[in-house]
Amino acid sequence: MMPHLTGFSRAELAEIFSELGEARYRADQVFRGLHRRRLQSFEEITDLPKALREKLSETATASVLKVESKYVSTDGTRRFLMKTHDGFPVETVYIPTENRDTICFSSQSGCPLKCDFCLTAKLGLLRNLTVGEIVEQIVTVLNDVYGIGEETPHGTNLVAMGAGEPFLNFENLINAIDIMSDEDGLFIVPGRVTVSTAGIVPKIYEFAKLARRPNLAISLSASTDEMRNLLMPINKRWKLDDLMQAAKAFEKTLKRGERFTFEYVLLGGVNDSIEQARALAALLARYDLVRVKINLIPHNPAEQLDYHPPEPERVAAFKNELESLGVSAYVRTPRGRDIYAACGQLAAKAGSQ
Ligand code: SF4
Repeated sequence: MMPHLTGFSRAELAEIFSELGEARYRADQVFRGLHRRRLQSFEEITDLPKALREKLSETATASVLKVESKYVSTDGTRRFLMKTHDGFPVETVYIPTENRDTICFSSQSGCPLKCDFCLTAKLGLLRNLTVGEIVEQIVTVLNDVYGIGEETPHGTNLVAMGAGEPFLNFENLINAIDIMSDEDGLFIVPGRVTVSTAGIVPKIYEFAKLARRPNLAISLSASTDEMRNLLMPINKRWKLDDLMQAAKAFEKTLKRGERFTFEYVLLGGVNDSIEQARALAALLARYDLVRVKINLIPHNPAEQLDYHPPEPERVAAFKNELESLGVSAYVRTPRGRDIYAACGQLAAKAGSQ
């Protein structure tokens, strides 16, 4: 495949251009064209000489993802089903809220982990996404929402919570986030990005050491090894104790005012009882984890899974119990359920267009 220039940082592009005998400012023009202006072909970067645009079009590419379908929810959520150049599915979801937008992107096509409540798990791992494929998801969504060439609105948040386990594609993910934070490009700073892991413990330690790191979310969903083994089999590889020790080590690296998140998918009748809320609070207390918040995610219905959503009263009771025990808890409102864009529903059937 020809090199996909959207996946190169400004410095890497400068190096490539110098090898081609081109001036550095040309590399900057290309970077700005692909990221700040979000152009998806070299032809459109009209501040470049025609001969250079032609040369680039012959030797490289500015776009490798094809939008196969797009679904718009009644709540404004948009779900994009894309394909890589070699035919693998990539899903990205745009979620508008009053003050900010959130784009939920994928780090892998499919996922090798086998979380029992997740439809993506049924696909298995198809392949890791490249740096360019990660960045291009965001470019494509922003162009769809705001129009090509319009400035990226400040306030766009990114979450690596689509398909895949981000920490199993660590290097590409971090490089993509670095590129997206460039102020000459999309300018989405790491503080507005959240990476969610199912618990790849060694990578939590590695992530903690990054100089400019995004926010961390750890998907927990259970407070005992027994339950977590059932729901998230990655727990058989790294037990709750390993995970909580890594979380504690991460907490120690937080800067003033920072917190991190534990996600807890609430499955009706499975892990949503008051006793389980108490056990969760006790687990956090056992490891003296205080700079954390819990995001409660009521399970979204999906025909192919055996679980069902929790009763709203149980969700409220679970949250209240945590709060009464001094743990900050938030309930994530399901978005885009009608188009199968909600958490755990990716890879479900297409939904209505
Ligand atoms: S919840 Fe995330 S990590 Fe688990 S199988 Fe689904 S995509 Fe993979």
